Amino acid sequence: MAELTLDGVTKVFTEDDGNEITAVDEVSVDIEDGEFLVLVGPSGCGKSTTLRMIAGLETITSGEIRLAGQRINEKPPAERDIAMVFQSYALYPHMTVRENMSFGLEESTDMAEAEIDETVEDTAELMEIEELLDRKPSELSGGQQQRVALGRAIVRAPEAFLMDEPLSNLDAKLRATMRTELQRIQNDLDVTTVYVTHDQTEAMTMGDRIAILDDGILQQVGTPLECYHTPNNRFVAGFIGDPSMNFFEMAVDDDTLVIDRFEYPLKPAQQEAVAGRSHVDFGIRPEDIRIKDPGGLSDNYQFEVTVDVVEPRGDENTIHLTFDRSVDDPVTFTATVSGLRDVSAGDEVIATFPPDSIHLFDTDTGVAVH
Ligand code: ATP
Repeated sequence: MAELTLDGVTKVFTEDDGNEITAVDEVSVDIEDGEFLVLVGPSGCGKSTTLRMIAGLETITSGEIRLAGQRINEKPPAERDIAMVFQSYALYPHMTVRENMSFGLEESTDMAEAEIDETVEDTAELMEIEELLDRKPSELSGGQQQRVALGRAIVRAPEAFLMDEPLSNLDAKLRATMRTELQRIQNDLDVTTVYVTHDQTEAMTMGDRIAILDDGILQQVGTPLECYHTPNNRFVAGFIGDPSMNFFEMAVDDDTLVIDRFEYPLKPAQQEAVAGRSHVDFGIRPEDIRIKDPGGLSDNYQFEVTVDVVEPRGDENTIHLTFDRSVDDPVTFTATVSGLRDVSAGDEVIATFPPDSIHLFDTDTGVAVH
């Protein structure tokens, strides 16, 4: 177990034509001893490259990686005491589960055979794969192979685990089970873990903290709730949350934000945040919008909208709404409502939201201003 530190870590790839790609740009993060950090971001944002630099599978262009306070930039992968689990499992097909799990111990430790057997059996019990020890990988289901791959990483009792989309080959149900399982195991073992995924739901449900990358640049590191409630910028705000936050560029008119006929009266702290700006990006999460029937009790702040599409999502529906259909390019947005609510396409309804649920961002830089 150990603290893992990335200090200004940068990776520049040079392509055959001499073109340079900065895949990871000055990433700094302290991962605490025993912490489960999820590295999340869209395809190509530099997640795998970051993980591969930690593992020693990729050189570091600049910056430093420290494990338990020791610089490991130049250490060969085998000497790093870090175990990596890949999406593809990478099990040896000709070996049994027992052999797959004991192989690393035979190669890298001077444990006696009996001790190796005992360690493998203890780990197999933890992973609930005792029954599978004498099978070959081809005789296992995807989920079982995944568990063996994790078991093989765990058996070495490394200082840190790195996992690159380890659940992406599993079906949705098994993925959900394995998420919980992985968290249980990580909790039991208390090993510093960096887990890569492009799936924000996985990040939100699994991470002690999440680190959000975009275009090689770290956008925010925080607990899932911090990133959800107080995103640093528009990218994080849009990436975290499903369905995504609604954004509108609005004109600032003293104490009011305006788009078409839609006017939003700013609270004093919000007025202060937009002072001196002509425009601001307004963000509101679909789950913060409430829908009412016309003629109901009046809220402080409400507006009429038309339902375009109702998209069922189990116990909830995502509804797509249009604010003012009379204009050429009307404002559209989404809201999440209970599946029990009876709304259909074409309905005229009233939308409202609590004023403290809105987010405001600088139109040019995307940085959160409120
Ligand atoms: P994904 O979720 O699709 O796996 P990622 O976030 O893991 O993506 P990386 O694989 O780290 O992204 O890639 C980051 C960037 O670096 C991409 O633009 C990619 O094309 C580029 N890249 C990765 N490996 C190389 C390489 N060996 N040579 C040149 N460019 C590379």
